[in-house]
Amino acid sequence: MQNRIPIKKEVKTVRYAFEIRDPLINPVILAMRVDAQQNMEYLWVGTDIEVGIALRAPNDNIYFAQTRPLGAFWCEFAKSWDTAWTDAIWALSRSLEAWRRKKRDAEGNAAGDMFRKLTEENEENAAVWYAAIQIWEMYLRCRRGRNGKYAAEFFRKYAQLVILPFGEYTPEMFHWQREQPVTPIWNCREDAKLQIWYPHGKIPFECGVATHSLRPMLIYYRQRILDAGLLMRKCRHCGKIFFASDSRTNLCSEECRNASKKAARKSFEDKAKGQPYEQAYDREYMFWYNRISKLKKEGASAEQVEQAENAFKSFCDKASRRKNRVKNGTMTLEEFTSWMMEQEPIIEKICSE
Ligand SMILES: [Zn+2]
Repeated sequence: MQNRIPIKKEVKTVRYAFEIRDPLINPVILAMRVDAQQNMEYLWVGTDIEVGIALRAPNDNIYFAQTRPLGAFWCEFAKSWDTAWTDAIWALSRSLEAWRRKKRDAEGNAAGDMFRKLTEENEENAAVWYAAIQIWEMYLRCRRGRNGKYAAEFFRKYAQLVILPFGEYTPEMFHWQREQPVTPIWNCREDAKLQIWYPHGKIPFECGVATHSLRPMLIYYRQRILDAGLLMRKCRHCGKIFFASDSRTNLCSEECRNASKKAARKSFEDKAKGQPYEQAYDREYMFWYNRISKLKKEGASAEQVEQAENAFKSFCDKASRRKNRVKNGTMTLEEFTSWMMEQEPIIEKICSE
């Protein structure tokens, strides 16, 4: 779990058409597999038949398929809210109530554009895809009704239930991050249905399957994670939400662990740089370095340069050891500085030969 690699396995999918046409015969579903052991989640959105096929083998005929690190689905909800949802729902409601065909289609097409834009802007967001497709399919079904007013009201109620969970879980998410017990979300009976597809045939895993509201799916998802004893954590380095088996884990991936180590080392070195013994050492180091550069520039013999470089190396080794003694308090800064000064004649002598 510590070394999980964020894998994103994309399956080729078909584009869902937000167009005025006949509704699909088969219902659209969201299937989810929670693999707490591998810390991964698998999602499919499509008609029930096509998703059934996709569980066994890659299937091009679904609208959305993704494998990703556990936690992404939960975080999607806080990111899915947009005023375009209510704008589109009201446009579709007006479309259903309209008497004239022209207005009916114009409102419908405008909402179709909004849904297309929403899904394109949230390409990797399963909740957005599922909600947009479900609402559109319900609109297409309601268009067939004779009583426009009744159809519009029924439609609005349905659509609002679908988008209800967006943004609703943020306070609970914070509780979970602080490792406080997570209390169940209020859920009414008619909004509590979720199908479970148990392992069957060639499919060795269990799936939660949403056919209407997404709230029961969220609760199922969260329960699977709690049952596995996982805690919600926020990565100290990149800020991403992830799940870990203990509260000491603060970094989400190998990448973030390495980056964080590097940053810690750099801040340690930066702090040390300001120390007087480091500054004194740096000054003396430059003194030696400049002498040798000058020697080379003046065309000294290879033998002389080698002699100078060996002396420089020896100086650096001895000075570093003394610098450490200053650091741990067994030598004073003055002793260190005057020792370094005493070494200057060594290089002066080599250079003047
Ligand atoms: Zn991270």
